Amino acid sequence: MSQDPEELWARCLLIIEQRLRSQSFNTWFRPTTARRFDRASLEIEVSSTYFADWVESNYLGLISSVVNEVTDFQPQITFHVFEKDQPIPDPAASRNETHSSSETAVEQLELPHLRTVPSAESGSSTSLNERYTFDTFVIGEFNRFAHAAAWAVAKSPGKTQFNPLVIYGGVGLGKTHLLQAIGHDALNRKTANQVTFVASEKFLSDFIEAIRNQSTADFQRRYRSADILLVDDIQFLLKGEQTRNEFFHTFNALHQNGKQIVMTCDSPPGQLEGLEERLISRFQWGLLTSIDAPELEARIAILQQKAEINNIPLADDVAIFLANNVGSNIRELEGALIHLMAYCSVNHAELTIEAARRIAIERGPSQSAQLSIESIQQQVAQHFNLTPELLIGRTRKQEVAQARHVAMFLVKRFTRNPLKMIGLHFGNRDHTTVIHAVQTVENRCKADRSFASIVESLSDSIQKAHSLG
Ligand code: ADP
Ligand code: MG
Repeated sequence: MSQDPEELWARCLLIIEQRLRSQSFNTWFRPTTARRFDRASLEIEVSSTYFADWVESNYLGLISSVVNEVTDFQPQITFHVFEKDQPIPDPAASRNETHSSSETAVEQLELPHLRTVPSAESGSSTSLNERYTFDTFVIGEFNRFAHAAAWAVAKSPGKTQFNPLVIYGGVGLGKTHLLQAIGHDALNRKTANQVTFVASEKFLSDFIEAIRNQSTADFQRRYRSADILLVDDIQFLLKGEQTRNEFFHTFNALHQNGKQIVMTCDSPPGQLEGLEERLISRFQWGLLTSIDAPELEARIAILQQKAEINNIPLADDVAIFLANNVGSNIRELEGALIHLMAYCSVNHAELTIEAARRIAIERGPSQSAQLSIESIQQQVAQHFNLTPELLIGRTRKQEVAQARHVAMFLVKRFTRNPLKMIGLHFGNRDHTTVIHAVQTVENRCKADRSFASIVESLSDSIQKAHSLG
């Protein structure tokens, strides 16, 4: 078999094309290329980080199984954004009003301010994403207070009453953006020399590595030398007792020295399981503030701002339609906008309400109207006579493992969570475990009709419970 990455990828695309609606294929797959493709690694090139996120969240399982069928490889699959200096096919076409090729779509989608970001949320512990500044942060009623607190903290880190500052709220509402904006702003104003931004998973893995290498002193030095420590998504950090302890000491060391700590969290800290009194009371020394779902006016303003930054000609009526119909969090709004743009480029269509309506239908119900992972886990556990703890636990007993696979499969089916997120909700498992589970269930459904009917009846009852609830 030829080992040319392009050729191998082209074979995979042929199969993927048969399994997707042509519009989805044209939008998400046609513009991709493979720059490396071998046993160890498949590197897929896409035109923007949005594309990378989208394809990874929605199609990683499909890609992985097709790759395996075509090549017998099980490479690690990663997504990369085109390098700027790489020639873009047929530059003349991009000046042609009628967008005559799908490559035009790629070029249209090259969002200048996004291109420099290598891949989503994969920075090192201290790196900040250039996109996430106060300048690009739209303020509305839903985030006004959190923004004001963040602003104050960036101006005088460690010197306000907001230490620590804890920002909590649901997914896609701008917590990470605001957290990083503090870092950028403090560096610009020179109110801090050392800003350390860390996603909790990274803190966790650094800590585990430090223990393994017996280098905890280095670890402590690294995290305790910050003038501002920004910790994203602390809910992940609180799971293990040792990391919780380490975090507690890091926190104390910084706080005692008048250093600023800012944290984000997906729910009010008081409700976090595993968070002890001593940490909660520490958090209460400072300020707890929430970001809620953006109100309609804010959603419209955000869409208009994103359109402007990306040179998308978005009419007011289309913005209003999207704001009303494609979701309640900002990540969804962004995703819908890029989707609309991709759709219009590929189909040579204008950005009209009609086009927006198609996108809204294709994207399905918004995340807010979506089922939660927990509720699906609960129903599956109940069906198999297990507790949710057992379901997400470590046990490898066959009945439990099977129920777990079914639960992962249904979560994948009914929510739009990235695989990584699903894995995290299942006892911190890897995304490849989720892929494996989904495939196992799909295969077994094909081979075993009684199993298939269990899965279908579970699907029905999950949907029914959701529509009643
Ligand atoms: P969270 O961390 O709460 O899940 P993010 O900070 O990752 O959410 O935000 C999701 C996306 O929405 C990001 O691309 C971010 O830039 C954008 N975003 C969030 N809040 C705002 C805002 N107030 N103005 C402009 N863009 C925003
Ligand atoms: Mg975040």
